[in-house]
Parts: sequence; C-alpha cells; structure tokens
Amino acid sequence: MKSIAILTSGGDAPGMNAAIRAVVRTALDKDLKVFGVNRGYSGLINGELFEMNRESVSDIIHRGGTILRTARCEEFKTEEGRKRAASVLKVFGIDGLVVIGGNGTFAGAQLLSKLGVKTIGLPGTIDNDLPYTDYTIGFDTALNTVLDAINKLRDTSSSHERVSIVEVMGRDCGDIALHAGVGGGAEFVILPEKGYNEEEICKNILQGKVKGKLHSLIIMAEGVGGTDELANKIEEVTGIETRATKLGHIQRGGSPSAFDRVLASRMGYKAVELLCQGKTSKVLGMKNGKIFDMDINEALEVPRSFDEELYTISKIISN
Ligand code: ATP
Repeated sequence: MKSIAILTSGGDAPGMNAAIRAVVRTALDKDLKVFGVNRGYSGLINGELFEMNRESVSDIIHRGGTILRTARCEEFKTEEGRKRAASVLKVFGIDGLVVIGGNGTFAGAQLLSKLGVKTIGLPGTIDNDLPYTDYTIGFDTALNTVLDAINKLRDTSSSHERVSIVEVMGRDCGDIALHAGVGGGAEFVILPEKGYNEEEICKNILQGKVKGKLHSLIIMAEGVGGTDELANKIEEVTGIETRATKLGHIQRGGSPSAFDRVLASRMGYKAVELLCQGKTSKVLGMKNGKIFDMDINEALEVPRSFDEELYTISKIISN
C-alpha cells in the first residue's frame, strides 16, 4: 500500500472532519501518500482528487460538516460508473479508499472492492441507523444539539404552560428521539418503531396538568410525521395551547462532541491500519467501548434491534 484516498458521502455528520484528520495524519505517519476526494463518489468519478498533507487537516477537528463536501451520486450505482471510479483511482496510483457515510455509501464501497480497490468504511451518520455498531460518528453531537434546543423550549413552554412537540431527525430509526426523550425529560417519545395513540397522549397530558405539571414535552421522530396534525388534535381535545417545532437541519451542524471526536479519531486511525494490513471490504464499528471491524456485507445484514428497555424507562420516569 503506497497511496490511499478518503471521501465523505451521503448526509454530512459532525465528526467527519475529525475522521478525515485521523486518516490523513495516520497515513502520513506510515509514509503513505493520501488524497482527498471532493463530493463523495461523484467527485471520484469526475477525478476531483487532490493530495493532502498535515496542514490540509489543521484546525478542522472542532468543525462540523465535512471539508471534503459530500454528495449523492446515481451514476455510482451503475457498473459503468464504478468502473470509471476504479480507473480514476488507478490513474492516480491509489490502491486503498476510506469512505465515511451510511449504508448506501457502504454498499457502494463493497461493490467497488470487487473491482480491485481496497475499501474501508467508517459509519458517519447522525441517525445511528447502522445496527452493527453501537454508535455512528455524529449521533452524539446531534443528540446534544437536540437537548440544547429542548432546554430552550422547556423554558418558554413552562412559562406559557404549553404542550411542545419537537420533531427530530430519524426516518426509520428512532434513536435520536428516544435518547433525546430520556435525556431531555420528555413526557412522550413517538418513534417509527412504535405506534402512538392520540387519546392516550391527550389523557396523560390532562392528568399531568392535574398533578401540577407546568408543561408537556413530546419528542417525535420525523419518520412518524404529522407534528402539526398532532398539535391541532391535542389542542382540540385538551384545550391546552400546543406548538410544534421542527428542528430540521440544525441537527446536522455544530462542533462535534468530545465523544464523536474521539470515536472518529479512533476509527480513522484503525481504517489506515487495516488498509496497511491488506484488508478490504470492511467497516468499523464500536461495541462495548471497543473498536472492531466487520465484513461490509455482514454489517449491512445485521438486523435492526430496538432498545425496549430504554423505551420502558422513558415511559416510567416521565410519569
Ligand atoms: P445517509 O445515512 O446519510 O443517508 P448513506 O451513505 O446511506 O448516508 P445514500 O444516499 O444512501 O447515503 O448513499 C450515498 C451514495 O452511495 C449514493 O449517492 C450512491 O452514490 C452510493 N450508493 C448508495 N447505494 C448504492 C448501491 N446499492 N450501489 C452502489 N452505490 C450506492
């Protein structure tokens, strides 16, 4: 292994820069040439590569987003597109590629490895929707961003004795909503993995008022949808003013948390180590505090599990 490249793909996540920095610095320490690829697989196909040095990654560990930009690329889903990407890497003399992204990015890396490019994937997505790993890079930061917003909403909604519904990211995976609900002391969490019952929510809000609760906080994952409709329904049934707030893309930005920076640094280092050992078609994850690697196909097949215990806790301690 003489030269490697790195790219970020899919949705951006805080901590991607820390991972890029770790990959570049580890590669340089091993006397490898390292190239950055701009705009994910799209930039790879178009030859948007540039050689990186230690200064290329100075002063980025604390920055959200990704200095390499990110993109979604339909062309890479075709055999022809991937062949072009592989030949670009060949022209630059690159034999190993580190990709940071979600399961689509990993599926692409796995197919690229069949064309002779050694590939290693790092899980970078705020949704924490890769079941093979306990944590993805960006999840912890997004969670803290949500908690910060919840704290602010709590101040205003308790002053006005309102119900607040907060929509957070998570299309198929309710991890942000569940963890933010527990950490933010929400009365209800509404997740794609679980249904919800409007009557039950309204009843509990009214009972909470009798118990002396100043406000009620509902965290809803975007995959469930309909925050405004739910707010109208609650207001109609309970007579209590109810506001819905969508946090949206704010959740993707911001300086990465300490946890995400350390996770990204450990994974970035390990990715280069694996490439130097000749490994390919692997992804990195964290289980019980330890970094491990796994075959990409195997990782993509790990079924999603739901943390029933945390869900139960969220219900019990909000009463
Ligand atoms: P996020 O979780 O943030 O959505 P992701 O990596 O899952 O991240 P996708 O848009 O699904 O995001 O995938 C990123 C890119 O990976 C796609 O634009 C495409 O270029 C490539 N890709 C996705 N799926 C495949 C596939 N089945 N085969 C080849 N390439 C793929």
